[in-house]
Amino acid sequence: AAAIVNNCAAATVLTLRALAVGREVIVSRGQLIEIGGGFRMPDIMATSGALLREVGTTNITRRADYERAITPNTALILRVHTSNYRIRGHTSTPSLAELIELGRKHQIPVIDDLGSGAMEDFAPIAPAEEPGVLASIAAGACLTLFSADKLLGGPQAGIILGRRKLVEKCLSNDLMRAVRPDKFTLAALQATLELDAEAIPVRQMLLVPPGELRRRTDGFQEALGVLPGAITQSIETDTTFAGGGSWPDHAIPTVVLVLRGMPSAEGFASLLRLGSPPVIGRVHENTWRLDLRTIRPADEPALIQALIAAAHGTVATVPPTPTR
Ligand SMILES: *Cc1c(COP(=O)(O)O)cnc(C)c1O
Repeated sequence: AAAIVNNCAAATVLTLRALAVGREVIVSRGQLIEIGGGFRMPDIMATSGALLREVGTTNITRRADYERAITPNTALILRVHTSNYRIRGHTSTPSLAELIELGRKHQIPVIDDLGSGAMEDFAPIAPAEEPGVLASIAAGACLTLFSADKLLGGPQAGIILGRRKLVEKCLSNDLMRAVRPDKFTLAALQATLELDAEAIPVRQMLLVPPGELRRRTDGFQEALGVLPGAITQSIETDTTFAGGGSWPDHAIPTVVLVLRGMPSAEGFASLLRLGSPPVIGRVHENTWRLDLRTIRPADEPALIQALIAAAHGTVATVPPTPTR
């Protein structure tokens, strides 16, 4: 069964409130995450009325640490995906399967807070350690929680998937009314889930093959033509990041258009940001860099006008491109 709420933060609070109020929830010290915006796992526990039972250390937590912490007052074992940071080096933490085996032995539900919510078809470019939604469910997590607006590429929402009995407890909790999404969110989420995966823009942008990006960048450079003054262009390989709190140290190979020779790359970037449409490129060692990965082909003509305006030291005012 599934429950949809406003975001994954709400999914975490609701789950803890519905299943663990006044009781203990075991979490590894290596997984006490802070998400952007000051959402901190220990504070969320306190807000929801659950009691945080930390186990292990920052880098090493063992199955035995979890097992020793189990008491009659243990409500849940919570695994939190360290979606926006990594602990590397001398590290170890039980797999989800090991936690589920432990949970079954002691009849304690295991909740998997994935956050980023990567679907399995990201495998070609995802970091090896990125847990997938389907893998979490297949491993036997009692509930799997994730955002709809991170790697899923849908509207802002939180998804709770898993055992019907537990989902129903969440749905009937008094907090549910305060965290339920509006109808537009539900409609947008349904539309996203009904699309073929290849049609979701975030996926298209993350998965675009470097060869295709190179061809597009070649075409774009040709259409841009010669820029005024001492500005020169080149096409270079570079690396990019998923952003949005996912895959924090996972560099993705990419292709960029590099502009050099402006009096100041910062000044050039500022003119582009102030224009209409605003253009946000990347400044690196007094060059200005553009990755077409996140540009819709339909927006390229407006982008070219914006670049020409900035190259002349002016701010562009291009009417917006109609959207589908
Ligand atoms: C991002 C994240 C959340 C919060 O998700 P939002 O949808 O942004 O509220 C919760 N837990 C984890 C592990 C996350 O990565």
